[in-house]
Amino acid sequence: MVGMGYDLHRLEIGKKLVLGGVRIECEYGTIAHSDGDVLIHSLVDAILGAAGLGDIGEHFPDTYPEYKDADSSIFLEEAVRLLKKNNFNIVNIDVTILLERPKLSQYKNLIRQNIARHCNISIERINIKAKTGERIGIIGNKEAVAAMCICEIQHDS
Ligand code: MG
Repeated sequence: MVGMGYDLHRLEIGKKLVLGGVRIECEYGTIAHSDGDVLIHSLVDAILGAAGLGDIGEHFPDTYPEYKDADSSIFLEEAVRLLKKNNFNIVNIDVTILLERPKLSQYKNLIRQNIARHCNISIERINIKAKTGERIGIIGNKEAVAAMCICEIQHDS
């Protein structure tokens, strides 16, 4: 079974930018209730979607004070725990990050290692891609960062 996820956050100068649990060196970052990690948020939705378990907002409402500035890896670990509880395993994860700059090539392996650790799968099962917005629109004008994700899962049996 497969699930897809998408997330977007606005960018602002002076905020921090975290993608896949990795801090990105950048003059701007996300405006968010949690740490604004669009990659993990889209991945959590892809995992939940594949297993038919709803969406990130139902499980982790952004109105809850305990999620203020939360490290999004706690959402990912909980989604993976729910997946296991329902006897599913992750087959592979494919992510596309939409960000004008900086270039993310130097971060991709770190992000893969981080996701692999939280999902308890091998790094080969995770693919990270990055694209710019070609200097137009909300991505290209550095007003937002977004991520799209697909996750395939299989039942244990
Ligand atoms: Mg989000």
